[in-house]
Amino acid sequence: MSVPGARVPPVAIHRTDAIVLRAIDYSETSLIVWLYTRDHGRVHLIAKGARRARSPFEGALEPLVRGELVFYRKAKPDGLDIAKEFDPVDLHLGLRADLARLHRGVYVGELLTELSEPDVASPEAFDAAAEALGHLARGSHDALEQALVGCQLRLLAASGLRPVLDRCARCGGPVFPEAPAGRDARPAQERDRRADDAWFGPAQGGALCLEHGRGESGATAVSRPLLRRLLATALGRRVAPDPAADLEVRRLLDQFLAWHLGREGRMVRWLRPVTEQARPEAGGAGTRRRGASTSAPRGPVDRRPEALAGSPSRSPSPAAPGGSTVRPPLGRRAR
Ligand SMILES: [Zn+2]
Repeated sequence: MSVPGARVPPVAIHRTDAIVLRAIDYSETSLIVWLYTRDHGRVHLIAKGARRARSPFEGALEPLVRGELVFYRKAKPDGLDIAKEFDPVDLHLGLRADLARLHRGVYVGELLTELSEPDVASPEAFDAAAEALGHLARGSHDALEQALVGCQLRLLAASGLRPVLDRCARCGGPVFPEAPAGRDARPAQERDRRADDAWFGPAQGGALCLEHGRGESGATAVSRPLLRRLLATALGRRVAPDPAADLEVRRLLDQFLAWHLGREGRMVRWLRPVTEQARPEAGGAGTRRRGASTSAPRGPVDRRPEALAGSPSRSPSPAAPGGSTVRPPLGRRAR
């Protein structure tokens, strides 16, 4: 209902929680920004004047910053939505101070981008990512991998890609038969120790019993404790962090995500040297890959994380999801 003489806004104005995914220089003064919003899913906006020294956004439109976004919907079908304000709520400064935190945070942003469609809202996905980024920025170092694993599982569930974990994804039967027969009949304690008790097949949709997992292309043998850990995390139960075991679980989910997305995540490769530097003993105790290709991820990687790790005085700026860079927050960059 319009008041005579009053100016009617040409388009709707929206206010929503949002996480910045990418920020790309567009012109001398403007940025194109991708954000994941709680109420509208992924949106692509133009932020006019964002590159000016005196910007209404105060330099807060940086990847992985969470804030309150005000934006206009595009007036023309082929136009970009317009960012009006962005008030930072959480800069996640801890991510900038530590590469182990930063790389996992960028991976969360990558998954949020890859698993979402523009303008399709998923508050569950937003909440999962927002909570994970908070944990990654401020949580205990031992729990970083667990925070990432929990986020992977929640984002998969929000996307309708929840892996089957409580039964065989192929036959629906128990993954660990209570009374194994024939050549696999072994005492329970021994079965618990054996790495080939069950399998995890990304192409098959999750956990597989011995019969349906063994020999399957791309399936990985998983120990009983590891699969239990994965299931408990998926069910949202409290599990004590165990960085080595959580890394194994994360790698299973990396494979699952790679199969569903058609390529390995950009950050998966970046996480590899960091985690293996930190924990040289990790990486193979609980899982064994069978028949899977170890193809390198497609697409160029802008900079190696090792190079960044060697220059702590420089602002960390690895490729953020989509190839933009993570810059120091609050616009302290010189132009
Ligand atoms: Zn089966």
